[in-house]
Amino acid sequence: MKLFNTLTRKKEEFVPVEEGKVKMYVCGPTVYNFIHIGNARPMIVFDTVRRYFEYKGFDVNYVSNFTDVDDKIIKKAIEEGVSADEISKRYIKECKKDMEGMNVKPATKHPLATEEICGMVEMIGSLIEKGYAYEKNGTVYFRTRSFKDYGKLSHKNLDDLRTGERSLLVTGEDEKEDPLDFVLWKPKKEGEPAWDSPWSDGRPGWHIECSVMSRKYLGEQIDIHAGGEDLVFPHHENEIAQSEAANGKEFAKYWMHNAFLNIDNHKMSKSLGNFRTVREISEQYDLQVLRFFMLSAHYRSPLNFSADLMEASRNGLERIVNAAGNLKFLMGSAKSEEMTAQEREAFAGSEEFVKGFEAAMDDDFNTADAVAAVFELVKYINTTADAHSSRAYLQALLSRLVKLTDVLGLIVDKKEDMLEEEIEKLIAERQAARKEKNFARADEIRGTLLEKGIILEDTREGVKWKKA
Ligand code: AMP
Ligand code: ZN
Repeated sequence: MKLFNTLTRKKEEFVPVEEGKVKMYVCGPTVYNFIHIGNARPMIVFDTVRRYFEYKGFDVNYVSNFTDVDDKIIKKAIEEGVSADEISKRYIKECKKDMEGMNVKPATKHPLATEEICGMVEMIGSLIEKGYAYEKNGTVYFRTRSFKDYGKLSHKNLDDLRTGERSLLVTGEDEKEDPLDFVLWKPKKEGEPAWDSPWSDGRPGWHIECSVMSRKYLGEQIDIHAGGEDLVFPHHENEIAQSEAANGKEFAKYWMHNAFLNIDNHKMSKSLGNFRTVREISEQYDLQVLRFFMLSAHYRSPLNFSADLMEASRNGLERIVNAAGNLKFLMGSAKSEEMTAQEREAFAGSEEFVKGFEAAMDDDFNTADAVAAVFELVKYINTTADAHSSRAYLQALLSRLVKLTDVLGLIVDKKEDMLEEEIEKLIAERQAARKEKNFARADEIRGTLLEKGIILEDTREGVKWKKA
């Protein structure tokens, strides 16, 4: 399994820190508004990465934070005349709704920056102790030049950065020893949320959050750290400096970054008026379509959002869902249970598409090619499954299709949960119909149950059922 590592600019074989386990950290959104479709890209992409690792049998510990203390949140709170806490809580809740719609699994842990301040104060303290940071008038800065590997992720060298140093000088930060130094802790301004610290009542800088939360929930060394490509510099570069200076170990082995999502070939921005939230898209499309659209391109290629591409995605997804629906429909009236020798051979023939899918995903998560392999399987299903197929053959094809689409987080076989008593009632009704030799009704009931994912088995001890 290979993945592109921003650190080395190469596709590398994935070797986990700990066998059978993947520890990954994905920088989450700053919660001051509904998430936009650009924010949705890393969520969908890295959720798919997680799902593929799980498919391969890895135990994945997936941590993704919410940045719930930030200038933008404070600004919005002032505009609305409410607390910053109210703003961040509201948009975390809305973000989780959007994630559910896009079938993004909840992280193993979603830490909140405001609940981890203690750990940040502690890490900043130890950076000062080790000589990597200093305090000036209540502000703590990281001494960038003291970390010799600074620039290794973004492949920038300190002298290039110096040339651009004017832009790095932010008002009020002229007390820094060096323009390249960045803030770890800053004193509060009037009306801002603040926490106690040895340096001032204030709040942490953005970068220190992730170093602290990643260490707390995943340990000092992790496998994968990920986010959008805009985070490479300075956010991830600064995270590396903080974590490696504090822990004395390599922070993350692999750094993954998704390319940007544009709209109608323009950068998405409020001023251009082409800014779309996931919530707006959900009024027009099932968010599964948005997910399918995001996965139709490789995550490291820029992706352009347009009405045409969304229509094409809707049609593409429908083709897959229809194939699954057709299999279930045929299962309802299949005449025989067991696969024939010919069907066994045909089923073995469909293995080729699974291999194609895995080869694509093993090659730096090439979801575009993985989707193409799913389409080939769909074509195969549509040409080999029909009213003469056995139930076992249809079921095997359906399971194979669902296994692959699950990796992509696409729901093609919606199972409505049936209550046990409803199932039992239908089974009793089917038994009665069989007694009366009303086999059409008995088959119909079996079909209804199958559509809801309930498989019946006629055994000597009576009818048994299980979930597909
Ligand atoms: P933010 O809330 O701005 O920190 O963004 C949260 C995540 O969304 C980060 O990983 C960003 O890199 C990513 N992101 C923001 N805008 C876009 C975009 N237009 N396309 C792709 N990713 C984006
Ligand atoms: Zn981060």
